[in-house]
Amino acid sequence: MKPLIVIGGGIAGSALAYFATQAGIKTVLVDAGKHAASDVPSALINPVRGQNGHVVEDGLEGAQFTFELLAKLEKLGYNIPHARDGVYRPVPDEKTHLKWVKNLPPDYPHAWLEQAPEEVHLQSHWHKVLYLPVGGWVDGQAFCTALQEASNVQVIRQTAVSFTAHRVVLQDQTELEGTVVFCGGSYGATLAGIAGTHRRGSLLLLKETLSEKPVSFGIYATPARKGGVLGSTFETPETQFRPSGLPLKSLHWLMDKAHQTFSTLDPQFQGLWTGVRFSGATLPREVLSLTALGSKGFLLGPKLASDLVQNTLIPLLHQ
Ligand SMILES: Cc1cc2nc3c(=O)[nH]c(=O)nc-3n(C[C@H](O)[C@H](O)[C@H](O)COP(=O)(O)OP(=O)(O)OC[C@H]3O[C@@H](n4cnc5c(N)ncnc54)[C@H](O)[C@@H]3O)c2cc1C
Repeated sequence: MKPLIVIGGGIAGSALAYFATQAGIKTVLVDAGKHAASDVPSALINPVRGQNGHVVEDGLEGAQFTFELLAKLEKLGYNIPHARDGVYRPVPDEKTHLKWVKNLPPDYPHAWLEQAPEEVHLQSHWHKVLYLPVGGWVDGQAFCTALQEASNVQVIRQTAVSFTAHRVVLQDQTELEGTVVFCGGSYGATLAGIAGTHRRGSLLLLKETLSEKPVSFGIYATPARKGGVLGSTFETPETQFRPSGLPLKSLHWLMDKAHQTFSTLDPQFQGLWTGVRFSGATLPREVLSLTALGSKGFLLGPKLASDLVQNTLIPLLHQ
C-alpha cells in the first residue's frame, strides 16, 4: 500500500501522523521545520473565546481530547510542559458580567468568583472572575515533538516544493507517491498559493510568570517551560505569510493591558516569539488538508486529526 504523506509537522500534521500510525497506516511526514505557529512557547487551551462568553463549537470535546492525549503521552514518558487546571477570566463590571452570564450555556462547566485565588495575582479592581475548569496551557513545540516521536513516523526534513493529491516533489527533486494531506499552515499555504488570512502575532517571554494559572482577558498570561509568557498582539491581517517581530505600538498595547490586569507587573523579559496565525483558507478540493486552524490549533487540532483518520483516511486507504 502507498503511504500517507503528511506535509507539515505543526500540531495538525504531527497529530495526524500520530493517529494515522496508531491506526496502522504507513505514514511519511515531510516538514520544512520553518515558521511553525505551533512552536508557540505556551498556548492556551480554552474553549471560551472572545469578549462575551461564546463557547467554541466542539471546543469542550476538543479541549478534553487534547488533555487526554497529553496525559497519554506523559504516561509514555514524554516531557511536555503543560497544565490542566483551568483558565481565569476577569470581568471589569456588572454589565460585562451579565453579558457573559447570558452567553455562557448554564451547563457549561464554570464558576463565578468574587476574586481570583492569590496565585493569579490579579488587581483588586476586577468586578468578578470567571473560572473555567476545562482549560490550561501547553508548550506547543514539545507537544509536536512528542507526537512525532510517539508515532515513530519517518520524518523528512525538506520542503515539499509542489504536490498533488497523490504525489509530492521535494526540494532535492525526490518524488514521493501516496495519499497526500496538506498541513502546512501559514508558511505552507503561501508557498502553495493557497488563499487565506495571515495574522502575525507575538508573545513576550518572561523570566517569571505573571500568574501561576492561565489568565485570559483580551491578552493572556500563562506559565511556560521557563518562566511565563504574555501575549498576544495581533497585527493587521495580510494575504500571505510575513515573518518578523513585534511593532512598538503593539508592545505598548500589550504592556498597558498587562498593567491594568495584574497586581505584580515587574516583568523581566527574556525574549520575544513571533508566529503567523492562518485562517479562512480557500483550500483546493482535490487535496486532503487539515490547516487554517486560526487561534484554535491546540484546542481543536488533535481532535480534528483523529476524526480525519477515522472518518476519511481509514475508509479511503483500506478500500
Ligand atoms: C502569537 C500566537 C499565539 C497563539 N496562541 C494560541 C493559543 O493560545 N491557543 C491555540 O490553540 N492556538 C494558538 N495559536 C494558533 C496556533 O499556533 C495555530 O493554530 C497552530 O499552531 C497551527 O498549526 P498548524 O499545524 O496548522 O501549522 P504550523 O504550526 O504553522 O505548522 C506548519 C508546518 O508545516 C511546515 N511546512 C509548510 N509548508 C511546507 C512544505 N511545503 N513542505 C514541508 N513543510 C512545510 C512548516 O515549516 C511548519 O513546520 C497562536 C498563534 C500565534 C501566532
